[in-house]
This record gives sequence, C-alpha cells and structure tokens, in this order.
Amino acid sequence: MNSAPFKDLALRPELQVSITTLGYEVMTPVQEQTLPHLLSGKDLIAQAKTGSGKTAAFAIGLLNKLEAQSYYTQALVLCPTRELADQVAAEIRRLASTIPNTKLLTLCGGKPMGPQLASLRRDPHIIVGTPGRVLKHIEKETLHLEKVETLVLDEADRMLDMGFHDDIMQIISQTGDSRQTSLFSATYPEGIKQISDKVQRNPVDIRVEASHHSPDIEQLFYQIDKNEREEVLFKLIAHYQPESTLVFCNTKQQCQQVANELRQHDLHALALHGDLEQFERDQVLTQFSSKSSSILVATDVAARGLDVKELAAVINFELSHDPEVHIHRIGRTARAGSKGLALSLFTDSESRRLQAIEEYQGSPAILASTSTLKVPKNLKLYPPMVTVFVNAGRKDKLRPGDLLGALTAGGEIAGEQIGKIKLFDKVAYVAVEQKVAKLALTILSDGKIKGRKFRVRLLR
Ligand code: AMP
Repeated sequence: MNSAPFKDLALRPELQVSITTLGYEVMTPVQEQTLPHLLSGKDLIAQAKTGSGKTAAFAIGLLNKLEAQSYYTQALVLCPTRELADQVAAEIRRLASTIPNTKLLTLCGGKPMGPQLASLRRDPHIIVGTPGRVLKHIEKETLHLEKVETLVLDEADRMLDMGFHDDIMQIISQTGDSRQTSLFSATYPEGIKQISDKVQRNPVDIRVEASHHSPDIEQLFYQIDKNEREEVLFKLIAHYQPESTLVFCNTKQQCQQVANELRQHDLHALALHGDLEQFERDQVLTQFSSKSSSILVATDVAARGLDVKELAAVINFELSHDPEVHIHRIGRTARAGSKGLALSLFTDSESRRLQAIEEYQGSPAILASTSTLKVPKNLKLYPPMVTVFVNAGRKDKLRPGDLLGALTAGGEIAGEQIGKIKLFDKVAYVAVEQKVAKLALTILSDGKIKGRKFRVRLLR
C-alpha cells in the first residue's frame, strides 16, 4: 500500500508543523484509515495495537479541534495504566507543542492528590488518565466533563480486563451527548461491542486485520492403551508446552483426577466441573483467564461459559461420543486468526467414535505416534502470572483502581506487571507477574487498601 502524506489531510497549520518536526512523513495504516473519520467528527471503533501509531491518530484528531483560548476540559483520554497514560500524554504534548497555551493534565492512581487538585483548578484542556482516579475527581467534584468534545478509550480491551467497566460507564455518564467517542482496542471481546453499543453513535468500524479467518487448526490423534492415558496427557503438555490448554474429559470425576495427576507433575492445572461451588468456579475461571493457571481440565458443560481468547491448545483426554461436540471442542483453539493445536487421545474401544468424527469432518484423522513426544529434562512450566486473592469486594466499596493504586503506589511494581483485576461482591482477584507475586502479597498484606486492612493470599 502506498502510504499517504499528512499533507493530504485538512489539518490546522500548527499540527502540520509539529508532525513535520517529529519526522512523521507518511501516515501509518491505522492513521490513514482513522484520521479522515476522526477529523470529520465521527465516532469510531478501531483495532490497533501499540506500535501502530494509534496514539498520534487520536491525538491529532482531538488537537485539530481544540480551542486553546477556551478554558474548559475539551478532551478526555482514558488508559488502563499509568505507564500508558504517561506515554499518551507525552505524544499529545509533542504534537501540541506548536499550539500555544495548550494545557494537558494526567490523572493517574498511585500519585498524590494535592498537585492534581491544584492543576485541575487551572482548567486543563486535555485530561489523560486512568479510570479509577478520574472517577475519584468526578466524585470530589474537582473535575467537570459536561463539555468534553472528544472522548477516547485507549486499549479498551485491557481496561475491561482490569475490571474498569463500571468506572468507565460512570465517567462517560458525566459527559455530554454531543461528544465524539473513539475506542481503540487490540482485541474485540464481547464486552467491547457492548460498550460501543452503549456509548457510541453509528461508529465507523476499522479493523486492520480481517477477523473472519477460517480457523487454522493442527489436529492430531494419538492411539494409546487404556492405562497410559494420564501419562500421555502429561507428555503432550510437556512436549508442546502450550501457553494455555483446555483438556476435555467426559465426566466430572475424571476432571478432578486428571487435574490432580497433572499437579503431581508440578503443572498448574485446575479442574472445572459442575460439582464446584459458585465461588470455586469463579476462582478457577479467574485464574485461567488471567493466565495464572495454564491448564484447565473441564467437562463440556462446565466449559460452556468459558470466555478465553487465544487458547493455544485443546486436548481431548477421551473422545466425545458426539462428533459435533468434538468439532465444537477443537474450535475453541485458533480463534482470532492464530494457529491452534487440537490433540486427541483414543483407545481401541473408541475407534467407532473416531470414525464418526472422520465422517463428520469429511477428512481422515491424522494419526501421530506417542514415541515422538519428548519430555524436556528439568521441565519447568509455570504460568506467567499469579493471582492474589483479596478478602474484600464490591460490597466493601472496593474498586479496581484501589487495588491498582495500592500495588503501584510505592513504585516497586509497575502497572504493566499487573494483569486482570476481577471484583466480586465479597472478594477480589488481582493477577500479577510471577516475579513480583511475593512483593505484591507483602505490599497488600502489610499496607492498607483504601485505608483498611484486608486478608490477602496467593492462589497457587
Ligand atoms: P503508538 O502505536 O501510538 O504507541 O506509536 C508508536 C510509535 O510510532 C510512537 O513512538 C510514535 O511516535 C511513532 N509514530 C506515530 N505515527 C508515526 C508516523 N506517521 N510516522 C512515524 N512514526 C510514527
């Protein structure tokens, strides 16, 4: 594709100057596709990752209509973490350097309130912040958003992952209807569409990659003896080392047994089946979806509600009796255009089921030999994250921003090291990177969250 120069856009002259000064010659694909709509005032939902030039796209959009002589908050950018907010603020400042008197303020958790309050009194034109802290200022009535003309949700999928949905909706309810709303997200989970439907008006939908790839699944079948099922399952995981694996069993009892067996091999496996209490189920799903556990052993029924993107592998511990169920199971990998792996174990007595699958899928099964499976010496397969359990939740008026703030305030843990935050009525879960797990536990158990002490522990 021939990229278009910024000169093709009807931009205010100051912006053309700063773009040239920054050395941006041509537009990136995301900029080329979004800017004409952003400049014409349309709402927009765009698929864009870090590195795509998305920040400059929405920054140019909001700066092009900014009136520096009018002293009120005209633009609000919400970001999931302080680090991202700082980067976004820096990019907007660079582009705004040629527009005199433009005032931008970042409002993030983990920073003292005093200086933020002082800066807010000087009516910044642009606010870049994290949802928890922005909401706090709204509640204190130190921030007024009624006249916001541009609202940007950056990395919206990550904000939802971190549990900011309610905060975001509350913030948006404070803005006027005439605003232009743009939403940038690397992935499109269901929650994104729901937010878009609620807060946007006929948004232009821009996806850089086509999302309707036919699933690209490598499917292999392993013939085994009845008594080696568990051993071969372990070997498959050790050999392929998928980042996340869903193991399907046909019965509840099997699920628990298989998960226990894998844990004996020092693998982080959890069982999901109908005998779990609701809170246990929430806990298992939270750990798996936040990458604090990389293997989930489930029945078909229990796995139904599981909403996990990018499942690297599906393993059938036993073939399903129903070929349609089999196809449904393996279709859970290779979503969103990534390559998936589907591995199935079967014994002699299941050969009829295998035949039914071959007929149903219209192609012969590719058989693989267990002798090719290699278990590396010193196998260490730890999930990237650990979940911290907090014995307080929504009913204790706890918000995701409070947990994020408590963890990052001392500067020892960065926002980037924190994963999904999930709040229930009485408990909360925060995923943190393995290497800061102990530190996170110490910070949360020794310190206070929202001025109070709560019981916390690591879920291993
Ligand atoms: P982002 O995806 O917003 O994180 O931006 C990635 C990087 O690309 C940032 O360092 C920007 O300064 C830079 N950038 C943005 N737009 C352009 C452009 N049109 N040409 C060259 N670099 C750009």
